[in-house]
Amino acid sequence: MRNKLVDILIAKGIANTKVLDAIRTVPRHLFMDSGFEGHAYQDKAFPIAADQTISQPYTVAFQTELLEIEPGHKVLEIGTGSGYQTAILLLLKAKVYSIERQLQLFKKTNLFFKKMGYRPKKVIFGDGYKGLPEEAPFDSIIVTAGAPEVPKALLSQLKIGGKLVIPVGLEKQTMTMFTRKSEKEFEKKEYGAFRFVPLLENKN
Ligand code: SAH
Repeated sequence: MRNKLVDILIAKGIANTKVLDAIRTVPRHLFMDSGFEGHAYQDKAFPIAADQTISQPYTVAFQTELLEIEPGHKVLEIGTGSGYQTAILLLLKAKVYSIERQLQLFKKTNLFFKKMGYRPKKVIFGDGYKGLPEEAPFDSIIVTAGAPEVPKALLSQLKIGGKLVIPVGLEKQTMTMFTRKSEKEFEKKEYGAFRFVPLLENKN
């Protein structure tokens, strides 16, 4: 079933073989809520706890491909959710830091990582808008929720040459990539429309 999913992703334009191999390897059904496992290899988003979603495989592959991850890259993920995107990043041998603002998901996914032997460097319960200044700078930052605006803190936590991939917009989002060219200059590229649950600010 995973091979078939990979064929679908290739047909939709995903070409990076390391990304495709990671999708072929990670057992997405184990990241799903009970009742949905049977649908895990459809190219669709599904509900997880706390009214959130596990991203569509095409979206995961698309965002990951844009990051051009090399082994050892330091990557910050905003929106741990089910942990599926985290697992894909780990298979690419990135050092992953992941932030989740829903306590229920943070706890559940942390336990799941331990049970499965996935080893992100840190999973943090907190507000991704602020990034993770104590671990900056990062080779890549990936935001897996729709951001009404681009958090300045995230841009400031990129290495020179580092990339921020973020879906920007309210109802629908435009996949946007910022590459840091120098201390003050960022190159911006846009890649079409996607739909995400919203990136929310913490009230605590
Ligand atoms: N990568 C995840 C996507 C989950 S959906 C997966 O494929 O399973 C997006 C996630 O972002 C949700 O879990 C949501 O709670 C989280 N989120 C929303 N706003 C956030 C914020 N400000 N900081 C951290 N996480 C946030």
